[in-house]
Amino acid sequence: MSVKALPIHAYFEGKIVPYTEARVGVATHAFNYGTAVFGGLRGYWNEAKQKLFLFRPQEHYQRFLNSAKLMAMEFGLTTEELTRITFDLLQADGYRRDVYVRPLAYKADEGIGVRLHDLVDELTIFALPFDKYVANDTNAHVTVSSWRRVDDNSIPGRGKISGAYASSALAKTDANRAGFDEALLLTQDGHVAEGSAMNIFMLRDGVLYTPPVTDNILEGITRRSIIEIARQDFGLPVVERSIDRSEVFLCDEFFMTGTAAQVLAVTRVDFRPIGSGEMGPVTSKLRHFYNEVVHGNVEKYAHWAVEVPLAEPVRP
Ligand code: PMP
Repeated sequence: MSVKALPIHAYFEGKIVPYTEARVGVATHAFNYGTAVFGGLRGYWNEAKQKLFLFRPQEHYQRFLNSAKLMAMEFGLTTEELTRITFDLLQADGYRRDVYVRPLAYKADEGIGVRLHDLVDELTIFALPFDKYVANDTNAHVTVSSWRRVDDNSIPGRGKISGAYASSALAKTDANRAGFDEALLLTQDGHVAEGSAMNIFMLRDGVLYTPPVTDNILEGITRRSIIEIARQDFGLPVVERSIDRSEVFLCDEFFMTGTAAQVLAVTRVDFRPIGSGEMGPVTSKLRHFYNEVVHGNVEKYAHWAVEVPLAEPVRP
């Protein structure tokens, strides 16, 4: 579950360098105050095709730029340029396996003073080998966390702002230490928002429900993809509305979505079985279909799985 390998290279201060050269000082603003934003993309290795596919890079980088905008950062880079830098990085790394790509934009000044303005913005991107994020992703047991999801009026959750992840980390660790696989975080007014790093879906009487983007959720790319697939390919009605905690106890199926978590089947919440207590047929089919899409095996969604041009890797 935990990732042990270090990145080989990083895009750092405008160029691709060996990872060991991508270093910041301890006084760096973002390190002290959480004034950074990040993204998270997956690259999927297709063994049969001998190709690496990056999942929806344009959408991920659009959200990344939106997150940066929330934190008053400006790079003058387009989503196309960020995608091209990522290709160069993956080309240099040369992974022929599944990877996770982490773009990070941060307030780079070294010194004291809480603010967003009049600070230097820097950008780094690195990639790591990556497999499963949550070990038990076919029958996860989750708990409703006593920690609340960050509110739009404290730290906007629709962007991936580094400082907000202290809240996710509190929820995740308490859940894991209590023996659960994941946490469910409620909004300040008590609706189910999402997991520590994944959006949520509930199937009830043939309708798929997911919280709206106004319920303090991250605007998830996997969420958006699953909504489209559910509607278009599974003929499932999808309704975006607030979800009560007790509805989760009564639903037929429940799953979580995220770049890292993919489609994670939840079969128990706070010791109550969801539906039959086993992964349901809709979750199972969506998992399978999503897996084919991200590996570039579904013609209709070929534009989501963008092939990374690969040649011989560069070794530092
Ligand atoms: N919520 C949070 C808090 C997350 O960190 C993530 C992971 N990026 C998600 C939801 C899922 O978003 P995505 O599908 O874009 O990875």
